[in-house]
Amino acid sequence: MFHKIPADSLEWHENLGHGTFTKIYRGSRLDKVERETHKVEVLLKVMDGTHQNCIESFLEAASIMSQVSHQHLVLLHGVCMAGDSIMVQEFVRWGALDTHLRKCGPLVPASWKLQVAKQLSYALNYLEDKGIIHGNISSKKVLLARKGAGGSPPFIKLSDPGVSPTVLTKEMLTDRIPWVAPEYLWDTKLLSLESDKWSFGATLWEIFSGGTMPISTLEPAKKLQFYKEKQQLPALKWTELATLIGQCMEYTPHLRPSFRAIIRDLNSLITSDYELLSDLSPSAM
Ligand code: ATP
Repeated sequence: MFHKIPADSLEWHENLGHGTFTKIYRGSRLDKVERETHKVEVLLKVMDGTHQNCIESFLEAASIMSQVSHQHLVLLHGVCMAGDSIMVQEFVRWGALDTHLRKCGPLVPASWKLQVAKQLSYALNYLEDKGIIHGNISSKKVLLARKGAGGSPPFIKLSDPGVSPTVLTKEMLTDRIPWVAPEYLWDTKLLSLESDKWSFGATLWEIFSGGTMPISTLEPAKKLQFYKEKQQLPALKWTELATLIGQCMEYTPHLRPSFRAIIRDLNSLITSDYELLSDLSPSAM
């Protein structure tokens, strides 16, 4: 279960956008410790009240986040039940990685991207060890706490999964191609720890190719065809990285590597040979 946060301890600021079923606001939380009141910046994720059937799943995501504690996982303060269900979580200053990559993609060095990939794999290794499936990994879910500049590394936090894919319609799942694991699309009972490895592979591809995922703009029938024909994303020019992505995006789930093995492979990649390549993006797109 999660910590319950009283509505009168929250201040609401500007709207930052929305998720599939949520509205997102910046806010503050007033926290009384003994006689002192502290004000902390928070992120308020409000579940859209018109989607009653998803509320349970949203609260389940909150419950999962309240059981975990890792430097690369977003911290959940608790949930406020004030008419709507509101997730109160730490505010991650620089927002989502996909937006950052789209803005600064060509200027971001490979070493920076590798740091981000490693930090994400540390968080996912932690979840794997605990037997927790995230179920919604993409660069949209990777938040930038520190951009890192002048040699200082970036610092990321993986966001909560939001509403579980188990309550999404087939259309919504199709929309998540190529991040959603193929086995899950055909049989919703097949969501497993292995599914997160597929999504991680797609996210790695996204990170290193600069934040644009061509398949995501295809019409639904073409996306489904991509999976039916067991196609792969175009191979990145960095061969070792392309191999790792290929292993994560194996159509047979049990052949995908563990996050421990993924970390080992990422640690063996040396960026210096690749920094001179101005373009790491796929050769044939
Ligand atoms: P989904 O649509 O996958 O169900 P969701 O409803 O849980 O997702 P997110 O995708 O997590 O919503 O959040 C939407 C956007 O809000 C993100 O892309 C990011 O820009 C911003 N955001 C989310 N969480 C935070 C946070 N903790 N700090 C700062 N910005 C955040």
